[in-house]
Amino acid sequence: WKNAPPTLRDTLVLGRAHGEKIFMVHEDERVSFEAFYRAVTVFAAELAAKGVQKGDRIAIVMRNLPEWPVAFYAGLSLGAIVTPLNAWWTGGELEYGLLDSGAKTLVVDVERYERLAEHLHNCPDLQRVYVSRSREEIAHPYVTRLETVIGGPSDWAALEEKPLSTTPLAADDDATIFYTSGTTGKPKGAIGTHRNVNSNIFAAAAAGARSFLRRGEAPPELDPNGPQRGSLISVPFFHATGCFAVLNPSLFGGAKLAMIRKWDPDKAMQLIEDERLTQIGGVPTIAWQIIEHPNREKYDLSSIEAVAYGGAPSATELVRKIKEVWPKASPGNGWGMTETSATATSNSAEDYENRPDSCGPAVPVTDLKIMSVEEPHRELPIGEVGELWCRGPQVVRGYWNKPEATAQTFIDGWVKTGDLARLDAEGFCFIIDRAKDMLIRGGENIYCIEVENCLYDHPAVMDAALVGIEHKTLGEEPAAVVTLKPGAVASEAELRAFVADRLAAFKVPVKVVFWHETLPRNANGKIMKNELKKVFVEG
Ligand code: ATP
Ligand code: MG
Repeated sequence: WKNAPPTLRDTLVLGRAHGEKIFMVHEDERVSFEAFYRAVTVFAAELAAKGVQKGDRIAIVMRNLPEWPVAFYAGLSLGAIVTPLNAWWTGGELEYGLLDSGAKTLVVDVERYERLAEHLHNCPDLQRVYVSRSREEIAHPYVTRLETVIGGPSDWAALEEKPLSTTPLAADDDATIFYTSGTTGKPKGAIGTHRNVNSNIFAAAAAGARSFLRRGEAPPELDPNGPQRGSLISVPFFHATGCFAVLNPSLFGGAKLAMIRKWDPDKAMQLIEDERLTQIGGVPTIAWQIIEHPNREKYDLSSIEAVAYGGAPSATELVRKIKEVWPKASPGNGWGMTETSATATSNSAEDYENRPDSCGPAVPVTDLKIMSVEEPHRELPIGEVGELWCRGPQVVRGYWNKPEATAQTFIDGWVKTGDLARLDAEGFCFIIDRAKDMLIRGGENIYCIEVENCLYDHPAVMDAALVGIEHKTLGEEPAAVVTLKPGAVASEAELRAFVADRLAAFKVPVKVVFWHETLPRNANGKIMKNELKKVFVEG
């Protein structure tokens, strides 16, 4: 890891060096590093032949399938900007993502193609669609079955490789657009450069080495002939964490990636046993669900070396639990956001056991500072709580086509995170709370304003507030407090169905409580959500 691959095309070429080792496992499909490389070059050649050029956006709308990374690297190798969209979004939400990014090419699995089909004619920029896993041809002038170009995963080893594109590509060229919401309610595309994305590879390696260096020991060299490392990928590739912190480092480092069709702890544990996987995590929820599972002892999970997660607050108790179940494994907690291309801090091994409430110090070449929320421009001293700002090679250059939001969020290379935190004298960061109106359900962010705006669209609703209620394994779940217009009627079921028609299922309030007075507001007119939360605690 001493030499950073400047672009993701370099990462792809370096990954090929792992040859016949298995890179991806999905159900009964097994894909070697070499087979993966061939599929990427064949698909890239197809895209180039169809006119895809540097800077064009290629959208991917797919659950975790082996063809997801193929589409990702094929696009990147041409210098295109790959734009993964959330596979749990509704047709309407996906249409927004396609329109906003101006994608000309879409690579989609058949389930999501069916969800999107009636929306495609609303996307004037779209010129070609590749559908994977469809059993039959789709009669449409610009739709192609992906399998007619590259075959299915079991055919990839037999493909003849095509030369890689020689389009000039530099570390500071745009590579990806990953969507994240925010206070405006509509998702914004964070533009990651090749450098931003690849920085995760070195952050991960350096974080692993740090715990050895702190003990005065040399970090062990990864032995290319030793047992292969492997991760259970339980977070979606369409999130920065799944793609940047798991997929790309696995390709670079020669680790196996095991995917499961639908999250199921029993299946996950069977996979860990069968594939001798060494790493699990993603988000804290995943670790909890395995640790607390009644069948856990039926499986041989002794191969686990690391349980690493981030993306949401985690209970301090989790560290102790991990050590109980896997005494030799290293627990890890990293903080990051889409705007920091995943990893910006990392706490692991003994450091994390000693400070189970910290997400760790910044990863190398990254700075953190705490700024006053009340007084602009005032940096706070060590120990005080304020807004966390972050600067480093992973901080994206801005939002796609949103100059105002970019100017508000990115200041002189720093990103304002909207998280409230403090730093200690050794630089360890402690996330205390969120200044932004957002909740995290099992790793999926829900921006309250988006759900509230949806509720306002219902003719009976006068006022609405979305709050997070605590949930043991998911962290938080969304619940709504609603007041109705005078004389109007609407039931809880009706309002939930109304949201479910418009927004992805994970955003739908699990409960709706009707409030019979005006919602409590503070002097600035902001709804006092902490007051409203009490309704759910007290039942
Ligand atoms: P992904 O893009 O994979 O979802 P992510 O969850 O790290 O990555 P976002 O979805 O953009 O990124 O969410 C970022 C927010 O999640 C942070 O601003 C913070 O509120 C919360 N968060 C992320 N990591 C941690 C952590 N380790 N501890 C506490 N909160 C976290
Ligand atoms: Mg997240």
